[in-house]
Amino acid sequence: RIAYVNGQYLPHREASVHIEDRGYQFADGVYEVVTIVGGRMIDEEGHLDRLWRSMDELRMDAPMKREPLKMVMREVVRQNGIRDGIIYLQVTRGVAPRDHPFPKDTPSALVMTAKRLSMEKAAKTAQKGISVITVPDIRWTRRDIKSVSLLPNVLAKQEAKDKGAYEAFQVDEDGMVTEGSSTNAWIVSKEGKIITRPVSNSILAGITRASLIRELEKQGIELELRSFSVDELHSAREVFLTSSTSYVLPVVKVDDKVIGNGHPGLISQKLRAIYEQFMSSSA
Ligand code: PMP
Repeated sequence: RIAYVNGQYLPHREASVHIEDRGYQFADGVYEVVTIVGGRMIDEEGHLDRLWRSMDELRMDAPMKREPLKMVMREVVRQNGIRDGIIYLQVTRGVAPRDHPFPKDTPSALVMTAKRLSMEKAAKTAQKGISVITVPDIRWTRRDIKSVSLLPNVLAKQEAKDKGAYEAFQVDEDGMVTEGSSTNAWIVSKEGKIITRPVSNSILAGITRASLIRELEKQGIELELRSFSVDELHSAREVFLTSSTSYVLPVVKVDDKVIGNGHPGLISQKLRAIYEQFMSSSA
């Protein structure tokens, strides 16, 4: 495996960053994960738009212009021989003696890695459906920024893992679901409405979420953008989540509540098919 680190393509096991990288010391960095299917990147532009937005919100300089960055992404995919997998991009505010304020004249740092993912395993998981737990959302109030400061997300995911679940849906102080630790949360209500939370500072604007919404609108499938409570989640007809690596993934159990008949719901399956169709048609 090959990694890109600040201008160099290095063997993965030899690739490293300085101990005074601000990403390491302050989590002063942002990232993106782009899925590759059949050698093609899915929603590359959307991910790069969000990366630039995250950097702008944190007043962080881009490590390079967008076109050369896209060339590095292609080179990392090529050198790793990835057909199906992901590319990980991370930008930090660079290397400087540890001090909280932004350092002067310090170039931001760019790291990229790529890895293969098994499409068969993902398909099997989707056929079976997954379980999720709910946990309090203990994150900061700028969840719209894709920051590498992921400690609350790490704790939430570990709690899910400890309880034999795949994901943890986080719940705000009003008892409303925000999103998963690395996914966006959706329900199909008892009335059959497809519901997901509107974008705001409370959640990450998922690229998969946005693409699915666009595809649904194209097909004239109705959708409600509003917050939903834990009670609604527990009594939903269907539950599913979206993310770049999970696509559309049916949820069959939430905490100790079985959703529907314990198998992926018809609407969730249909939406996964719609999203797969979108991926295979996007050049
Ligand atoms: N919410 C959070 C907190 C995430 O980390 C992710 C994964 N990046 C998502 C939602 C899903 O976003 P996307 O569809 O862009 O992968």
